[in-house]
This record gives sequence, C-alpha cells and structure tokens, in this order.
Amino acid sequence: MTADCLFCKISAGEIPAEKLYEDDEMLAFRDIAPQAPVHFLVIPKKHIQDPANVGEEDEALIGRMMRIGSLVAKENGITDFRLIYNNGLEAGQTVFHIHMHVLGGRSLTWPPG
Ligand code: 5GP
Ligand code: ZN
Repeated sequence: MTADCLFCKISAGEIPAEKLYEDDEMLAFRDIAPQAPVHFLVIPKKHIQDPANVGEEDEALIGRMMRIGSLVAKENGITDFRLIYNNGLEAGQTVFHIHMHVLGGRSLTWPPG
C-alpha cells in the first residue's frame, strides 16, 4: 500500500469500486468513465508504478493479469476486446499504479489516437 495512491486505496477497500473479480493478488473493477460498453481495469494489489517498473519477480503476476482479464471479459459477454497499458503522461497514464484496461462491446478503431 502506497500512501495517496488511488488504486492502492481501491484494492484496500478504502474507496469503493464496482468489482468484477478479486483474489489475493489482483482485482478487476469497472472504469469510472467507461470508453466502451465494457471497460474495466485489472490491477495487481502490489503497488507497481507502471509497465516500465515491472520487475523480474512480477512476470508471473503480470501474465496472470492477462489471463484473468480475458476470463472476466468472457464473463461479461465479450469475446473481442482490447488490452491497454498506458506508460507515462504522454501515453495518457493518469493513475500511477499499473493497470490493464480491458475494452470491448463495440468496434474499436486502429491506431488509437
Ligand atoms: P490511465 O489514464 O492512467 O491509463 O487510466 C486510469 C483510468 O482510471 C481512467 O480510465 C479513469 O477513468 C479510471 N479512474 C480514475 N479514477 C477512478 C476511480 O476512482 N474509480 C474507477 N473505478 N476508475 C477510475
Ligand atoms: Zn498503488
């Protein structure tokens, strides 16, 4: 738990979120400002700032985020979806606790803006 980190507070239950999945090491919850009919975030409970700060010891955890995110997508009725990690301000990162966006339920354009 890192003080003043929004997603550490959500994972600790100090700030409410609409949870879709939770286990000992990760959590999936709906994005507060959804950009698609299905838009949720998968986070590790461990505070990692961003993809650039993923350590070797985190590799299995980050891999699980993809597997669990895909399962939760299926549970929420989507088989086609986009996974996004923003790293740094210029890439659009606004919360500095690593999170994987899962977006689907509409057709998505490429490349992203
Ligand atoms: P980023 O821009 O850092 O990749 O994504 C952060 C995401 O967190 C945004 O899509 C934003 O809507 C979402 N978000 C920000 N604050 C909250 C919150 O308090 N609760 C939830 N559920 N999502 C949030
Ligand atoms: Zn955090």
